[in-house]
Amino acid sequence: MNEAMYRRLGVSDEVIKFSRDILCELEERFKEIDDVAEYNQLKVLHAFQENKVNATCFAGTTGYGFDDVGRDTLEKVYATCFNTEAALVRPQITCGTHALTVALSANLLPGDELLSPVGKPYDTLEEVIGIRESTCSLAEYGVTYRQVDLLEDGSFDWDGIRAAINERTKLVTIQRSKGYQMRPTFSVKQIGELIAFVKSIKPDLICMVDNCYGEFVDLLEPSDVGADMTVGSLIKNPGGGLAPVGGYICGSKKCVERCAYRLSAPGLGQEVGASLSVMTSLYQGFFLAPTVVASAIKGAIFAARAYEKLGFNVLPNGTEPRYDIIQSVELGSAEKMIAFCKGIQKAAPVDSYVVPEPYGMPGYNSDVIMAAGAFVQGSSIELSADGPVREPYAIYFQGGLTWPHAKLGIMMSLQMLYQDKLITL
Ligand SMILES: *Cc1c(COP(=O)(O)O)cnc(C)c1O
Repeated sequence: MNEAMYRRLGVSDEVIKFSRDILCELEERFKEIDDVAEYNQLKVLHAFQENKVNATCFAGTTGYGFDDVGRDTLEKVYATCFNTEAALVRPQITCGTHALTVALSANLLPGDELLSPVGKPYDTLEEVIGIRESTCSLAEYGVTYRQVDLLEDGSFDWDGIRAAINERTKLVTIQRSKGYQMRPTFSVKQIGELIAFVKSIKPDLICMVDNCYGEFVDLLEPSDVGADMTVGSLIKNPGGGLAPVGGYICGSKKCVERCAYRLSAPGLGQEVGASLSVMTSLYQGFFLAPTVVASAIKGAIFAARAYEKLGFNVLPNGTEPRYDIIQSVELGSAEKMIAFCKGIQKAAPVDSYVVPEPYGMPGYNSDVIMAAGAFVQGSSIELSADGPVREPYAIYFQGGLTWPHAKLGIMMSLQMLYQDKLITL
């Protein structure tokens, strides 16, 4: 029955059979993912109930947005869920990079030093920090930056980190997800150990975690293990695919208050910021996020198993634990990256007929190829694939609002590679 539909969508019998064999091996793994989703769904529900979410929360405000009950309650819901004193969750935070920029620039002053003990941060952060010279970077405001690379095996360089912390070190930034790198994503437990370590050296260090792509993958969040600020984007995991815009910062009252003053203006802080008409989507998306994340993880594992079987280097591999929703596949050539993306695009509900091509994008220092046929533009909790077109030609695959869609996406990617004779099944 389903096979006829797959054929109708352009999937060949060879790809159907190849996929069926892989999926048979994944039942037990999928059960574990459903268990995590169940726990996180209950956690979210508890946060909604605890903060008495009701219909007035969805009304929205305009203008200054004073006394915006919906906005204030949503921030309490996030704070409860993330186990923090406070949260800033707003459509005025335009994306993940913006949320991270607000968190950093609000809590670093001229003369302070920022430390990344986990190697190079996400591409767009290079300009925020000033690693690549950039107007309005932290460097321009007199904030210096130090980085300790991971050891060869992907573990923390404890000695190097100890040596890097000095009297000016003020804030430690820890990126949970690998981003566009071939390094492991950290578990929340590892992040907790790192935070405990740096605080044992200098107790007043502020620890910020870039939580992009990590939300609801695990039972715990970085905020449960000592992070002073946990930061992310609403067009990734916690928006559940419904949030049309936004970012969040969950953390200590002191840090979040500064973020609010930085985001709006000193003196105004969290009191202003109209929620316009997006509140229903932000609430409903957060409510759906745990199961949406589970769909995305299932897609990622299916992709890992499939491409691993075809001999490609995949990270994480098909059997190891998952700490974010990203799957990278080292395809080894631009040609294969393009074919993979064509498949993802063909499986999309929106723009399925367009053909992705590599292009230059602000914030990235090489051409990038992206496949996305999303309801929310650029949303990467929706099925999408992207990657910088440079060595090692790795594609980063993520998202899927439903598991059947993620599954079709992978099958179509296999189909495109198969059709172009770039793989044999
Ligand atoms: C996506 C991402 C960002 C930046 O988020 P944008 O919404 O694209 O600005 C930062 N860090 C990591 C790890 C990410 O995955």
